[in-house]
Amino acid sequence: MLSTMMDAPLSISSIFWRIERLYADKPVVTQRAAGEPDRTTYGEVARRSRRLASALAQQGIGPGDRVATFGFNTQRHLECYFAIPCMGAVLHTLNVRLFEDQLEYIINHAEDQVIFADRSVLPVLERLAGKIPTVRLVVLMNEGAESTGVLPNVVDYEEFLATGDAGYEWPEVDERAAAAMCYTSGTTGNPKGVVYSHRSTVIHSLVAALPNNVGLGESDTVMYAVPMFHANAWGLPYAAALAGAAQIFSDRYLDPERILSLLDAEGVTITAGVPTIWLGVLNLLDKSGRRLPRLRTVLCGGSAAPPALIAGLRRHDIHLLHAWGMTETSPLASLTRLKASMEGLTEDQKLRYLAKQGVIVPTVECRIMDIGTGQELPWDGTAFGELQVRGPYITGTYYNDPTAAEKFMDGWLRTGDVATIDPDGYIQLVDRTKDLVKSGGEWISSVELEGTIMAHPKVLEAAVVGLPHPHWSERPVAAVVAKPEHAGDLTPEEIRAFLTDKVARWWLPDEILIVDELPKTSVGKFAKNRLREQLAAITEKWAALPA
Ligand code: ADP
Repeated sequence: MLSTMMDAPLSISSIFWRIERLYADKPVVTQRAAGEPDRTTYGEVARRSRRLASALAQQGIGPGDRVATFGFNTQRHLECYFAIPCMGAVLHTLNVRLFEDQLEYIINHAEDQVIFADRSVLPVLERLAGKIPTVRLVVLMNEGAESTGVLPNVVDYEEFLATGDAGYEWPEVDERAAAAMCYTSGTTGNPKGVVYSHRSTVIHSLVAALPNNVGLGESDTVMYAVPMFHANAWGLPYAAALAGAAQIFSDRYLDPERILSLLDAEGVTITAGVPTIWLGVLNLLDKSGRRLPRLRTVLCGGSAAPPALIAGLRRHDIHLLHAWGMTETSPLASLTRLKASMEGLTEDQKLRYLAKQGVIVPTVECRIMDIGTGQELPWDGTAFGELQVRGPYITGTYYNDPTAAEKFMDGWLRTGDVATIDPDGYIQLVDRTKDLVKSGGEWISSVELEGTIMAHPKVLEAAVVGLPHPHWSERPVAAVVAKPEHAGDLTPEEIRAFLTDKVARWWLPDEILIVDELPKTSVGKFAKNRLREQLAAITEKWAALPA
């Protein structure tokens, strides 16, 4: 029997309708290189988005065509977020920090026709001139370098916008049609494309806004320090718009001082970013005595939030909301909040839960599978296996990828993450499968070792990798960066002594190196592959050891 409900499509234009009709006066603010930020409203963003879509339609862009963005977080980028999918085209966010050959591969694989690019990163795009034949128009947003003319058909954003009509009407779109796409940065092999639908995006936004998840309301002011090319800024541009929350854009200025000042000046209540960003901000808060009384939530994910970071922010009355997800999961898939029954726990016990990756979000299901046997494992907080998920905004395949099937098992996405799940349903990531250190037939979690080292008061960042060892198979090596005020005054012996009563003896890294800087990925995570390469001398030295 069919229901009597209307079959209204879940479309991004229904989110747009809210900013245009209900929240037109709400602020949209973009930080500039210097001086006062640009200030506008959702109403203006809505008018400009319609104009932008109309200008694209006049260029022959239609349903299903890929239109890329190549820029940081700005109001104009938000306009692309609405105009492109609402007109039925596909918003393809390109990562501005990718290596050139990967960028070339992605643009050609997606067959992008138009690219909206920040002038600040235009030179990167210009180096691809002649290698990206599907691109027939480049629209320049923001300030920075001017076009050198090597790319054909380059126009200025405002001039392009002026050719459009603010009365442009959105076409009807199928809720299952592609709305946006994003490639995983992939440490090995070619990047893989994930294509989001209108339906998956709307459901993800609704779930993200729920109070037990990110918890977004009309009274919030949101500033995401996660780039709009990193898994759609974790879905926050749409979720914040749906909720009617004001949006503040950091552009490309992500150093701790600028972030802290922006959060403060704009009264931001919810922010988001990878742990390395917040480690810097926490250090600045500690040193400067500055406060952020309006900031309610720091959504933090992308890699494990070290317990010391969570505890440190709590000292400033800032709640770090630890989340786990992937490009493939739209991305918010689990978040950690304490259950009502946990209120009476001690601060230490609470911290243990807050450092986990949390409980799976509504509409998504999870399970853990034994790495060897492939059997499902119990939720006892001890057994660990590959985390698998399924749900309406989890990708079911990869775009035009013949190897996609390997990443799925009976309709579940194989995440490549190793996790435990406790009886309360809290997921805890042990490691990425490829980063677990296999020592003498036992596993060492690089993530846990890093988190423990980062609790040392002189340490800013720490990354642990397993290197091949003739006797043990692999042994851990730690690379550690001191806080700026302790540069030159941190020794490997101090770290070793600090770890002695905190981890099992056989977990102690064989080598601890104090380094000036750790290699990071394009989205600010520790780049373990590059770290392994940098530690080649140790690998060579160990190769000569007896088996
Ligand atoms: P990439 O693979 O390029 O890093 P993603 O941003 O999609 O691209 O990364 C997803 C991965 O990031 C997850 O599979 C997981 O390994 C890691 N990750 C995400 N959030 C967390 C978290 N809170 N704790 C630990 N690891 C995380």
